[in-house]
Amino acid sequence: GKGVAVFTSGGDSQGMNAAVRAVVRMGLYVGARVFFIKEGYQGMVDGGDHIQEANWSSVSGIIHKGGTVIGSARCTDFRQRDGRVKAAKNLIKRGITNLVVIGGDGSLTGANLFKQDWPSLLSLLVKNGEITEEEKAANSHLNIVGMVGSIDNDFCGTDMTIGTDSALHRIIEAVDAIAATAYSHQRCFILEVMGRHCGYLALVAALTSEADYVFIPENPPPENWGEKVCNKLKQERSMGQRLNIILVAEGAIDQQGDPITAEGVKKVIVDNLGFDTRITVLGHVQRGGSPSAFDRLLGCRMGAEAVLALMEATPETEPCVISLDGNQSVRVPLMGCVLKTQAVARAMQERKWDEAVTMRGRS
Ligand code: ATP
Repeated sequence: GKGVAVFTSGGDSQGMNAAVRAVVRMGLYVGARVFFIKEGYQGMVDGGDHIQEANWSSVSGIIHKGGTVIGSARCTDFRQRDGRVKAAKNLIKRGITNLVVIGGDGSLTGANLFKQDWPSLLSLLVKNGEITEEEKAANSHLNIVGMVGSIDNDFCGTDMTIGTDSALHRIIEAVDAIAATAYSHQRCFILEVMGRHCGYLALVAALTSEADYVFIPENPPPENWGEKVCNKLKQERSMGQRLNIILVAEGAIDQQGDPITAEGVKKVIVDNLGFDTRITVLGHVQRGGSPSAFDRLLGCRMGAEAVLALMEATPETEPCVISLDGNQSVRVPLMGCVLKTQAVARAMQERKWDEAVTMRGRS
């Protein structure tokens, strides 16, 4: 059977294990040999025990776990050609020419580069006597399929990334818990949530938790936001509300592009209203806990589709990403999505928010 390897790379997210499990089991089901690569690209470069053949039971009991049981890493070696030469050798020695990468846009870019480099890496390995001409001929094409694991939902080309829904659950649980204590003491709580370039988590959490105000990177508030926030809070209290909840995305900014921080918002409220105001930074709690049913199912569906895409690949097939489009898992061109995602990030940096949001579209 074909050799397929799966690995997770970049930041972890809930639901990655479901995706790994689906790749392994679908791979075995269609008669492939399936391998785990531990610690992302670092494991591919280092080889040895980092690349292990999987069987049906090696992925049992992981679907409910957060994070990624096969480990993830950032790897500088793989950015160098030397590292990619080592990685190619480690794959060829095991007959692996099909890769499933689960990560963010950086990890997918690396995979695309690896595929482009593949023929020349093989030639170099032959020249150095590390592989034979026969091995080169038998492994001449590398197939790549990606899946996006990220809590931020910041990738263009898919309606949802693996992990976003679970992170939203964590945030909502935290807001609900805090609302109870805020109510008791008539306090104002400011919660900082993740999202450096993408306000999806903050926005959806605010909509679904009845927050009074939300700050996101894509929509800098008017210059007089301090006044507007205070008026809103006063109005809520005058209507009998005993608490206030404000959500601030990590990357929130004002019209000048300066950060809007939880501390900054607190100062405005305390100085103007004198409310008892507290800050909670949710941090990595958002990446913790068990994956939601949605993320488990998303990982399963994407993982199964990834294997089918690899099995159907021909030497001409371009790398694809498995994406969710209107509740269907579909294949979309990998580099097209990566370039669009990077263009959105650039537009955000240049403060062209409307352009960024329009480009990001449904995703
Ligand atoms: P996250 O969104 O969580 O940050 P990511 O996949 O974008 O995930 P990165 O740190 O950008 O995270 O990339 C993960 C790894 O992918 C890097 O440590 C590196 O090994 C590899 N990688 C990223 N970009 C490239 C590139 N241009 N060339 C080769 N390898 C790359």
